[in-house]
Amino acid sequence: MFYFDPVYLLFVIPGLLIGIWAQVKLHHAYGKYSRVPVESGMTGAQAAREILNQAGLDDMPVEEIPGQLSDHYDPTKHALFLSSDNFRGRTVAAVGVAAHEAGHALQHQAAYGLFKVRMALVPVTQFASTAYTGILLIGILLGLWKIALPIIIVLFAVITLFQLVTLPVEYDASRRAKEQLFRLGLVHEDERTGVSKVLDAAALTYVAALVSSMMTLLYYILRAQGSRR
Ligand SMILES: [Zn+2]
Repeated sequence: MFYFDPVYLLFVIPGLLIGIWAQVKLHHAYGKYSRVPVESGMTGAQAAREILNQAGLDDMPVEEIPGQLSDHYDPTKHALFLSSDNFRGRTVAAVGVAAHEAGHALQHQAAYGLFKVRMALVPVTQFASTAYTGILLIGILLGLWKIALPIIIVLFAVITLFQLVTLPVEYDASRRAKEQLFRLGLVHEDERTGVSKVLDAAALTYVAALVSSMMTLLYYILRAQGSRR
């Protein structure tokens, strides 16, 4: 039975541990720098607005949404959504996260290749995730592993590919964010470390997700090879 395969645990635990470590690190960095006021006195929303305006994206809305770290750029709506803490916060963390999301808007504007690939993969990945859950259930409930496993591998490879593409996109958004924050003087020299620490910790959660997916994919592949023998 799938769930009680001890080998599976061996493949899942490392990803799980890295994931927990990344969350703890992010919690710590974000917690610390969301209490450090930014010298410019700007809110996250104002910093994002400034970066967008400087790039000629004056029309792009910057809106407040509920939730914690729910911040994102929506390429279909051409809009930036910031969580209340970062929208209103006048802290190093708020300005850093807001600038990161503006960084995604800059990627979109610049037609950055990997950003376009990631966008194209979104609907495919959504389908793969849903189908994966369904096929996995069929495998577990009906025990039809011989048929289910190759399909599971293909679907999970799509999910893993999406995470692989996401990683450089996230790092690039942070790079653009830092570049603009310092160029426009929204963040001062002594605030650089804080911004970097928050953004690096956030990126680490994507690394953890990728490691976790790669390990699971590897497990499925090894299992498929084992059952063929
Ligand atoms: Zn991002």
